[in-house]
Amino acid sequence: MDAREEVNEISLDPEDWGALRELGHQMLDDMLSYLETLRERPVWQPMPDEVRARFRQPLPVEGEGEAAAYQDFRELVQPYPLGNIHPRFWGWVIGTGTPFAMLAEMLAAGVNPNLGGGDHAANDVEQQVIDWCKQMLGYPAEASGLLVSGGSMANLVGLAVARNARAEIDVRQDGVHAAPREMVLYASRETHSSNSRAAELLGLGRAALRLVPVNDDFEIDIAALQGMIAADRAAGRYPFCVIGHAGTVNTGATDDLNTLADLCEREGLWFHVDGAFGALAALSPELAPRVAGMERADSLAFDMHKWMYLPIEVGCVLVRDQAAHLSTFSVTPDYLAHGTRGAHAGGPWFSEYGLQLSRGFRALKVWMSFKAHGLDTFRRLIEQNVAQAQYLAGLVDGEPELERLAPAPLNIVCFRYNPGGLDDAQLDVLNEELLVRLHESGTALPSYTRLGGRYVIRAAITNHRSRREDFDVLVQEVLRLGRGLRDEARA
Ligand SMILES: *Cc1c(COP(=O)(O)O)cnc(C)c1O
Repeated sequence: MDAREEVNEISLDPEDWGALRELGHQMLDDMLSYLETLRERPVWQPMPDEVRARFRQPLPVEGEGEAAAYQDFRELVQPYPLGNIHPRFWGWVIGTGTPFAMLAEMLAAGVNPNLGGGDHAANDVEQQVIDWCKQMLGYPAEASGLLVSGGSMANLVGLAVARNARAEIDVRQDGVHAAPREMVLYASRETHSSNSRAAELLGLGRAALRLVPVNDDFEIDIAALQGMIAADRAAGRYPFCVIGHAGTVNTGATDDLNTLADLCEREGLWFHVDGAFGALAALSPELAPRVAGMERADSLAFDMHKWMYLPIEVGCVLVRDQAAHLSTFSVTPDYLAHGTRGAHAGGPWFSEYGLQLSRGFRALKVWMSFKAHGLDTFRRLIEQNVAQAQYLAGLVDGEPELERLAPAPLNIVCFRYNPGGLDDAQLDVLNEELLVRLHESGTALPSYTRLGGRYVIRAAITNHRSRREDFDVLVQEVLRLGRGLRDEARA
């Protein structure tokens, strides 16, 4: 073969760097302008059928070019957000993201490291972020940690360590079915669905997660918990873990975490805290007492894409007993053996603390945001959201046609439109329709839940863009739509 034969090798780098540079600058300008003018647009709007039809175009075998692909984003994606970047979005528990962290995400994708392990700076960034997280939440410095996709994965990792550390057998070797006694764990009825999914995935089964009644403030009933543990033991089962909540998803309630920690100590149980958003209350000296005891958890799960406002995805799990954490996930096949020099040195190898081997650089947006804004700014924003929840609760309480259905101890307010003269079933129907119309109006976007079977409108405030006046708009709109529906019902 002629060594000089022409080979047609290709790459995904641009042929024309200048053109991509120009397009990149355009994208950045467009996005920053879009974020700057969010308020002028609806929170949410349904996607027209003709737009949705364009998602059924065939597999693009031939490329259309970068500029055309960007145009598709502009036309098909950007105009139809769920709305969580908008100042009047308070649905589920979804953060807003920040312009600066968006830029950090771009840098992370540019350097594209793999956080599975090895000796490289990105690893140091993640370790420092984890250390900072321990510090800001008052968690022991010797603890291990891992950045994960979110609270669901953080709960799964924490509960996996709990299961393996407390099992009466070697779960990794023999499997859960080899356990001599049925392993059971506890959480309040207000627990997040991710915890029951973790129980399922860990082979314990959903029934192993005992749901404990709550008091009038939606906090776990500790006497009931104590009774359930005793009953399970008497029946030959093996209680091994209690999940406490710092901020429940429905109402933002926090269990009495110090009492739970005492109970777990006394009973020899693993104490896991799901603090998906509520854990961040610890940043504020004023709010920290509400989540006191959280720092005593054996494992602690929380999110930074909710109440730290960072772009999705980033959650974190901290584990007090680093050895237990490592022994749950560690494997070192030959091709992953660690060195003492060279690129395969360094540590920790984060892939040994969770399920993922290849791991993205989600740490960079946290690291740069902490540095750029300072924790004090996040503290102020969290306090601001709590003050806004109080403000909204006050507006609701001041309106005879609105009814609040739960305490608002943190950043969540649950209420319904209730003009009087309607029963619960009618109010459910009315409020469900009211919420849909509110979404379709594009003015504000709270979500919903059921409390004691009753349908409620639920505003969860993890939004750094909201202002007081936005809650005035919400209340006015709910009243306007509610009155319309009431009149329709009477007509
Ligand atoms: C959101 C939430 C989760 C799940 O977190 P993701 O980041 O959505 O996976 C778990 N627990 C609570 C209390 C939550 O609010």
